[in-house]
Amino acid sequence: MSDDDDQTLGITESKEYATGDWYAEVCQKAGLTNYGPEGMSGFIVARPRAYGLWERVQGELDARFKDTGVQNAYFPMFIPESYLEREKDIVEGFDPEVAWVTHGGHEELEERLAVRPTSESIIAPYMSQWVRSHRDLPLRVNQWASVVRWEATETKPFFRTKEFLWQEGHTAHETHDEAWEETLLRLDQYEEVYEDVLAIPVMRGQKPDHDKFPGADTTTTVEALMPDGKSVQGATSHHLGQSFAEAFDITFSDEDEEERVAHTTSWGFSWRSLGALIMTHSDEQGLVLPPTLAPEQVVVVPIWQSDTKDEVLGYAEEVVDDLEDAGVRVELDDRDERNPGFKFNEWELKGVPVRFEIGPHEVEDGEITAVHRPDGEEVTLDRENVAEGVQAELDTVYAKLFAAAEENIEENVRDADDRAGILGTLGQHGGYVRTPWCGDEDCEDEISEQMAAEIVMVPFPDDEEKHHDDVLEGDAECAVCGDDADETAYFAKSY
Ligand SMILES: [Zn+2]
Repeated sequence: MSDDDDQTLGITESKEYATGDWYAEVCQKAGLTNYGPEGMSGFIVARPRAYGLWERVQGELDARFKDTGVQNAYFPMFIPESYLEREKDIVEGFDPEVAWVTHGGHEELEERLAVRPTSESIIAPYMSQWVRSHRDLPLRVNQWASVVRWEATETKPFFRTKEFLWQEGHTAHETHDEAWEETLLRLDQYEEVYEDVLAIPVMRGQKPDHDKFPGADTTTTVEALMPDGKSVQGATSHHLGQSFAEAFDITFSDEDEEERVAHTTSWGFSWRSLGALIMTHSDEQGLVLPPTLAPEQVVVVPIWQSDTKDEVLGYAEEVVDDLEDAGVRVELDDRDERNPGFKFNEWELKGVPVRFEIGPHEVEDGEITAVHRPDGEEVTLDRENVAEGVQAELDTVYAKLFAAAEENIEENVRDADDRAGILGTLGQHGGYVRTPWCGDEDCEDEISEQMAAEIVMVPFPDDEEKHHDDVLEGDAECAVCGDDADETAYFAKSY
């Protein structure tokens, strides 16, 4: 970092009153992203600090996938137009957002190639070749890749970018029920990574029928509520039924040698999760990271005068050694040219979860002053047991982040039972408004036409009790049209 950057370290925008500008500033000043070149709006550069976060999230998901029968593979980034056209819903669903390659070098291609917006249409034909008998099922492959969706919206790092990193899992099964179990298993894993790694509680449910993934039977989702009251679709897992298997001939001979059509799923988790991470936890001092993901979990800042330097620095170095031996990711900031206050601000901006302050007092008393990034709480740790002590502090920081995010959700689910109530509540508070719904898209449209809000999810029947006690008791009527309501819709503004 140059001196010029240092002069402008602090965050100047308000998270509460200028959320978009604040978010962009955190991404830039914490060294996470740059925007793409001129003429390429919508593309971003993920700098090493951001990419490192992605690698950790990736590692967590990848381990879970491999523990549950998934193998990684890689497929071409281009899809022949004729392949894309084989599943008509995919073409219709993605057509306006597809980027096309028409030339290879100077030659015009005979058939233009789509840059993958999602890979069902290039993966399914190979699954068809690999599956012959029921013994080949279930088949589970995943790829870590980027996809391109040419949306004309304002760039928002990680939330809205034309190219984004993700994983896409694709599976084939003998029965409808097995495919459904697979769909929910992946949703469970997404929920677990959000809650246990990203410190973000999520709500689970499914998308309304008219908002499913193109060609899917059912699209399930985990939704996270951001502090500005908007919902983020955290990840989706799709039961594709037999539409792709029929379009691409994924068939198998069953135990009686009968030819049958497989049932498939696909599921994806993208770097939008990093957007949710930054937006949820960070503040007006900059980035806040959970210890699970932080590149440095602890930064040690020695505080010395010239006559105490050797003693303080020696003590700090031994503390660092102990932490490293215990597997803690730790950084010693022994720069001579910076004063401690400057260092504190810089590491706060970068989101390091715990700061150790070590001066002559700490050396004398055999102690360490530890400071939590999210709220500045100071704790005194015993030098002898620093490795165990720091683990407790890291756990506490994680718990604080999760609790704050959970409180945001708990306080921001409200009920409404008529149109004015839905619009008024969303307008005043944001958050989720749950309401009885007849299931008709027109009733959602009536709200969406008045306000940029939509039905982000419908809870699973099994989860209903957990999330709401009485919305559908008795004879519920759709809040918009008054017809019988047999579903509960969660309306929200969304990213
Ligand atoms: Zn209705």
